[in-house]
Amino acid sequence: MEKLDQLYEGKAKKVYATADENLLIVSYKDDATAFNGLKKGTIVGKGVINNKMSNMMMQLLEKKGVPTHYVQQLSDRDTLVKKVSIVPLEVIIRNVSAGSFSKRYGVAEGITFDEPTIEFSYKNDELGDPLINEYHALALKLATKEEIELIKTYAFRVNEVLKEYFLSLGVKLIDFKLEFGKTTDGKIVLADEISPDTCRFWDAVTNEKLDKDRFRRDLGGVEAAYEEIFRRISK
Ligand code: ADP
Ligand code: UDP
Repeated sequence: MEKLDQLYEGKAKKVYATADENLLIVSYKDDATAFNGLKKGTIVGKGVINNKMSNMMMQLLEKKGVPTHYVQQLSDRDTLVKKVSIVPLEVIIRNVSAGSFSKRYGVAEGITFDEPTIEFSYKNDELGDPLINEYHALALKLATKEEIELIKTYAFRVNEVLKEYFLSLGVKLIDFKLEFGKTTDGKIVLADEISPDTCRFWDAVTNEKLDKDRFRRDLGGVEAAYEEIFRRISK
């Protein structure tokens, strides 16, 4: 399958049409942004790692009963996916306090929760992806009640699968962001990506950060962290 017209260029990926109207090609870049695009940079090799890693995670999740947009990896940076209409909600699951949760509620990072939490942000760059609740999402007709229920069920299932998988690699899954979409035949599937750009990973022994926080917070060793996560999942 070949790339036809570029439909969209986002912060981390480009999206292309294909000869099949139900399929797209996503192409992963090394560009990195943080704080709603305010901080910009390059993480050398990130596109290749995120592409391959995301595809591995999507295949694992399919096996565990979560439908995804994944079709076929085409090259180091390019993957064929089902075209979906993205539900404009960023779905965030947390197992341990960090990032905006710690800031918002004034608690330290690293507190393990008894139960995972879920929250939604309205995916809208102009508004800065504001936090939104299910009633507001329904009022804005971003999804139906049934779709939101299904998205929550899938999101917690993703957490169960990935938490266990990463722990077996000596990595704590702190939190992550998911996006879901509706296929041309009306099915809700997991879309976008699962990578160190969209998850927080801490080494289970040292608590060393192995994710995009190294870029956001200027901690150094950004490329090495992405490579380390990729090395562990490739074993
Ligand atoms: P952003 O738009 O936030 O800058 P990216 O650079 O990752 O993000 O761009 C990829 C875009 O493609 C995102 O807007 C994402 O929602 C969208 N997307 C991901 N998977 C699919 C899919 N299967 N079908 C249609 N759009 C998708
Ligand atoms: N996240 C993401 N995209 C976003 C916002 C958050 O992938 O636009 C991920 C982020 O990498 C982290 C989780 O979602 O794994 C929770 O992020 P948080 O709300 O703490 O926000 P942040 O600290 O990144 O501003």
